[in-house]
Amino acid sequence: MIYYKTNEEIELMRESNMLVSKTLAYVAGLLKVGEHGKNIDKKAEEFIRDQGGIPAFKGYRGFPATLCMSLNDAVVHGIPTERAFKESDSVSVDCGVLLNGFYGDAAFSFAFSMVNADVKALLKVTRESLYKGIEAIKSGNRIGDISFAIQQYCEKRHGYGVVRELVGHGVGKSLHEDPEVPNFGLKGKGPLLKEGMVLAIEPMVNLGNKAVKQQEDGWTILTRDGKASAHFEHSVAVRRDGADILSDHSFVDEAVKKNAELVNISINL
Ligand code: MG
Ligand code: MG
Repeated sequence: MIYYKTNEEIELMRESNMLVSKTLAYVAGLLKVGEHGKNIDKKAEEFIRDQGGIPAFKGYRGFPATLCMSLNDAVVHGIPTERAFKESDSVSVDCGVLLNGFYGDAAFSFAFSMVNADVKALLKVTRESLYKGIEAIKSGNRIGDISFAIQQYCEKRHGYGVVRELVGHGVGKSLHEDPEVPNFGLKGKGPLLKEGMVLAIEPMVNLGNKAVKQQEDGWTILTRDGKASAHFEHSVAVRRDGADILSDHSFVDEAVKKNAELVNISINL
């Protein structure tokens, strides 16, 4: 069942997503070679709680951390560990919070200074594909139009592999609501996009093959071929006149620019 949000509820969700966005920016300032994810995760939890939020992922089906941190060939759902970051790493950070009864959900992939050029290109295209999907939110379109736009851009245009097993989702009073928002699919298929829907759109894109596997920790999803993966996510409200992006990556970009150890992933829209 799809829950359609009122304008007031959408404004509350903007606040939740603003806290998520500021947390991702805070994390961007903490990402340093030699630092490790577990330490950053602890600080991110404090940051969220200091502002009245509750980390959404911690305890969700037993997930042990505030952030999902997925390094290199990890696609999503990585558990922050004490493994120190290297200058050749890429890492996707996914953050969810509960604030005022509503969830916010967004993600960003970061590249350290010596990351491979192929991986940098993957991050850029994955980030661009998120906006290709968002641009498909217009009156009369369906979920499949979002899916199709993302898949076409990543697979047809750039030759990457779009992950099939994990998808975007509705978000609201629950972290995961209907409808599912796959990153692959057909134009004109799926539920109609209607005013008041709030969707977490989150392309998960592999440098090589689309196939994935689960790590023994029971959480981390890895590429089967061991090549890199990238993940960007926004929570987006469907309005009468199109998409209204509730999360904000501009805070993250500002923090990345100030952190000399990270590469700026600028996109062409
Ligand atoms: Mg997320
Ligand atoms: Mg999500």
